[in-house]
Amino acid sequence: MLQQTQVKTALPYFKNFLLYHPTLESLSKSSEKKVLKLWEGLGYYRRARNLLATAKILVKDYNSKLPNKMIDIKKLPGIGDYTANALLAFVYERPTIAIDGNVRRVFSRILNKREISIDLIKIIDDNKKSLFETKRHSDFVEALMEFGALVCKPKEPACFKCNIKSACKYFKSAKKFKKIKKSQLLEKNYDIFCCINKVKKKIALTKNHNLGFLDNFFFPPIKETKTKKKIKNWNFHSNFKNSISNKKLNINLYYKYSSKLPIQSQWFSLKANDEFIPSFTKKIFKQLSNFN
Ligand code: SF4
Repeated sequence: MLQQTQVKTALPYFKNFLLYHPTLESLSKSSEKKVLKLWEGLGYYRRARNLLATAKILVKDYNSKLPNKMIDIKKLPGIGDYTANALLAFVYERPTIAIDGNVRRVFSRILNKREISIDLIKIIDDNKKSLFETKRHSDFVEALMEFGALVCKPKEPACFKCNIKSACKYFKSAKKFKKIKKSQLLEKNYDIFCCINKVKKKIALTKNHNLGFLDNFFFPPIKETKTKKKIKNWNFHSNFKNSISNKKLNINLYYKYSSKLPIQSQWFSLKANDEFIPSFTKKIFKQLSNFN
């Protein structure tokens, strides 16, 4: 839940999730529909699907335990290098470092070099004797993450209270390296088409998108476009902006009334649904609320 999400946002979801699934076994018996419902509003729903798939594999193939080899952990759905290293340290006290943006920044500041110019894996390997001198490997991984988040922060590092400033080239150097700014995300235009059954107050949603995002989620038909234009048989409703999975969307919302269900679609209530509805779809419902 904490990937791409702040602790304060994830916490109520985490507590609620554990009420429903306090053990791996109970999670492994759940369904995607139920898990997505518990995740509703938290976004990045692939995490929920991967979590469920991983729980099923661990219960079935590993006697409800995490495998202790990197090669096996990385075969689990949604687990890459970062999570695998963190798990090996947290669960098995292995000497390892989970490299994320915070850790990269800390090392690049200590060396006073740009992140892209250092080979962090090699640096860790060359210095493993001193880096892993401690026996508290899980604490070390956690400490590095916290150090990057609380002391060696992205903006204005708290060098005055830093315990390693005497070894830090960034602190000591008069010529500090400058971070390259990430290029601004490009905004793209999308047309969204809402077919509304006015009598039943329902909207037609489909999973057939081919956009690379919204995969497997119910959403009105959507397509990328270059400009806002008049579209035959559709009425323009509104224009609004939205961000989803690191994408910036400039949306033109169109609608029409019809009681005929379009192909590959399903009717959904514009008010409440038992089925999981992603937040983005709910925003569309809100935009259309004057139809209710
Ligand atoms: S002295 Fe400053 S820049 Fe260097 S590691 Fe500490 S907080 Fe980061």
